Formats: sequence, C-alpha cells, structure tokens
Amino acid sequence: MRKYKEAQVIQMIFKPQVVEAKMHERNDATNLYHVVARLQDNTHCRIIYNNGTKSISRLLKNPCPICRKDTHCKCLDRFVEEIASQVDFAQL
Ligand SMILES: [Zn+2]
Repeated sequence: MRKYKEAQVIQMIFKPQVVEAKMHERNDATNLYHVVARLQDNTHCRIIYNNGTKSISRLLKNPCPICRKDTHCKCLDRFVEEIASQVDFAQL
C-alpha cells in the first residue's frame, strides 16, 4: 500500500473557498490583473491574470494550509483554476 505524506493527504482533501477578493491592480491596456483573495482558512493569495493565463502565489501572512510552511511553496498552484473560478471579475 502506498504511503502518503501528510501534506499529500491534505492536498487531496483541500477545498479552497474564496471568502473575499479584491482587485489590487488592473491594467486593461496590457490585460494584466492582480487580485488578492482570502480563503475560508484565512490563507491570502495573489492571483495574477496575464493575458488569459493565471498564476497564483500565497501571501506570507499565514503558514501554508497544505504543507504548513511559512515560506513560499507551490502547493496552491494546482488549485489556481478552482480558486480563480470563484472570483467574479465583474464584482471587483
Ligand atoms: Zn505549501
């Protein structure tokens, strides 16, 4: 039986929920948007929309909800679509 690390298990069950999102920077001319979102577990992250591609990085206010590191990590990368889909651009 395969053994999983705790972080892997958390990543499998992690369900990000955006509770707050703010437009931080908006540049319609270059199609670049920068949104800061807060998740239900108080994780803050920055979503960058650059000409249709999205990337995410965690703000270092709180440890990562998945690996618990308080430095940069890539855990949220695979949730970028899920998190971004909860941000309604028209409302920002
Ligand atoms: Zn992490």
